[in-house]
Amino acid sequence: MAKLTVKDLNVRGKRVLMRVDYNVPMEEKDGHMVINDATRIEETLPTLHLLIKQGAKIILMAHLGRPKGQRDPSLSLRPVAAKLADLLGRPVAFVDDCIGEKVEKTVGVLQPGDVLLLENVRYYNEEEANDPVFAEKLARLADVYVNDAFGAAHRAHASTEGVARFIAKGGGLCAAGLLMERELKFLGDELENPARPFVVILGGAKVSDKIKVIDRLLEKADTILIGGAMAYTFKLALGFKVGKSLVEADKTDVAKSALDKAKARGVQLLLPTDNIVATPVKTDKLNKKGKPVIELTNPRPLTEPNIPDTEEGVDIGPATIKSFGDIVRGAKTILWNGPMGIFEDPRFAEGTFGIARMVAEATKQNGAKSIIGGGDSVKAINKAGLGDQVTFMSTGGGASLEFLEGRVLPGVAALGDNA
Ligand code: AMP
Repeated sequence: MAKLTVKDLNVRGKRVLMRVDYNVPMEEKDGHMVINDATRIEETLPTLHLLIKQGAKIILMAHLGRPKGQRDPSLSLRPVAAKLADLLGRPVAFVDDCIGEKVEKTVGVLQPGDVLLLENVRYYNEEEANDPVFAEKLARLADVYVNDAFGAAHRAHASTEGVARFIAKGGGLCAAGLLMERELKFLGDELENPARPFVVILGGAKVSDKIKVIDRLLEKADTILIGGAMAYTFKLALGFKVGKSLVEADKTDVAKSALDKAKARGVQLLLPTDNIVATPVKTDKLNKKGKPVIELTNPRPLTEPNIPDTEEGVDIGPATIKSFGDIVRGAKTILWNGPMGIFEDPRFAEGTFGIARMVAEATKQNGAKSIIGGGDSVKAINKAGLGDQVTFMSTGGGASLEFLEGRVLPGVAALGDNA
């Protein structure tokens, strides 16, 4: 059933407690913490503008990093309040706590349209423990709960789950923010009955991370294209040699059963037919963990399906980019999760960027809906400069994967239904 959203609420003069994902990358410069990328803050602006226009008293709560119940000053949300004020063009108040008398007093003097950001909820261990006493203290601050933090919705924490239960118990409504609503629409509803052909592109490091997603998508997709290191586990399952490629040798049974299921259901499951390979060479340099840095040397395309013992597969090859690309260009719905190669190294990025260009082309010329399922795929699309040429990019990493697996996310389940 569809969830209640902020658009369904009458919030005039009401205290609205909104969970946001402000877990932004920060770094210390001249003794101050500076935000490196404010995308997550920007993404909450539509919901905030709507609530401000409707005269809500807005109380924002979020986590930052992993302070493990300690008041680690480098993980304070104070710099986020300043950045948000810049972006909103209006003051944003900040209190250095998220529960208790001081917070309640500040909330008590809020006027319609005011915005207040609370301190990092993870300064309390009770947050991740979903402690009911802590959740009840958060709930005391508000009349209405809004969750716009899709990226944290797979966790049953006090600020994502427990608090909603208490607000609902007290008769308050719990609704999805506009960002959360879009995530549920594109990763959920749009993929329930997709326009066909529905083509899924999967890549990244491990089969084991995505096996449940593959399993579920085998019931929906017309074609599944597999690239990235994940492809080598499938190749191994089929009896090919994979050399020094990143592979999960103990997961070949999982790959085999996916291949069998695809055959039984008539789903086309395609693997790369050629690769870019490189020779890994141990250097004298040590990494942060004290292990020798491995350099990937002598990159070249390999058309032979068996990868020699000395070589590592690092990207899909040109023939695969072309054959995968032709399928992507004919798609009407595209879901992409995971890069095709080690795209962080420009020498091995062409597979990922080539597919990204085809996804953008299918969106523009074929009217395809293209949905990018979070994490590294979003980074790759942005790096290719194509972020504005796809239909939707998820803001969740783990949350997107769990949602695509068909799991009920606790932070979503806690929201009210739109009857
Ligand atoms: P994931 O988080 O599972 O989507 O994995 C993303 C990571 O997979 C990226 O950091 C890529 O560098 C890595 N990756 C993709 N293809 C390969 C490959 N052929 N060998 C090693 N790592 C890869």
